Amino acid sequence: MARYRMYPTAAQDAVLREHCAQARYVWNLAWNLHQFGQLETYGQASRRVDRDGRRSIHQKRRPVRPLPGYVEQARMLTEARAEYSWLAAGSVVVQQRARLRKAERRAARATTGSPAQKTERACIARLRAREADRRKDWCEKTSTGLARRFDLIRFEDLNIRNMTAKPKARPDPDRPGAYLPNRAHAKSGLNRAILAQGWGLLVQRAIDKAPGRVEKVRAAYTSLRCSACGWIDKNSRNSQAGFSCVYCGFSCNADENAAINIAAGHAGGTLLSVREPRISAA
Ligand SMILES: [Zn+2]
Repeated sequence: MARYRMYPTAAQDAVLREHCAQARYVWNLAWNLHQFGQLETYGQASRRVDRDGRRSIHQKRRPVRPLPGYVEQARMLTEARAEYSWLAAGSVVVQQRARLRKAERRAARATTGSPAQKTERACIARLRAREADRRKDWCEKTSTGLARRFDLIRFEDLNIRNMTAKPKARPDPDRPGAYLPNRAHAKSGLNRAILAQGWGLLVQRAIDKAPGRVEKVRAAYTSLRCSACGWIDKNSRNSQAGFSCVYCGFSCNADENAAINIAAGHAGGTLLSVREPRISAA
């Protein structure tokens, strides 16, 4: 296998340097936060022998000054955001998601029925509610904007329920009772991403706000059809992100190509019925 060494361009170099500087800042901030909490020793030290036979002395420690709680952390974050523009530019969604995952992990580790588990579960519920609010808010804003700016709005008619269905278990033919990997984990991530977009709600609110001006375009072949010449070929899709027409050579980002098709109201039907764009009666 050939090996390559790649160097960043000047612009990429600048971005990478900035990224490193920011990562360093966040690390230092976390370290400061950690140091903010002070520990004191208590109880008797105990001698321990680990499974490799190594001896050590263990001393229990407890916080004298506890780590800043949620409210305090949020206040510090707000302050830091005001001070550093790049931190403000960081995605709130990503930061909130990180917080949610942390709470989920803690809840899973906590003893069943313990107060700690209850606390973490309450935290999870709060974060999820906030995420749902943000999603609704985004749907309202986006649908209002679409309804104001466009006469005709076309959505890809996605079947969210099918797209987000749990993948079927695949029994292993060679080993009875065993299962082959069905990429359930990967799909559940995709499911979350699709659901998180609030697609169905966005479409519904657009229909409410622009009655009679919203059309749903069948999703079939929208990603395989060339938006320049109309040729449908599965070989035109050269990668997940790329589209390059095998007929006319038109190439562009695959999502962009599909979006042009949908905006033009093309695709739908079967391979035979999708030939040239027809002018609809409406
Ligand atoms: Zn083409």
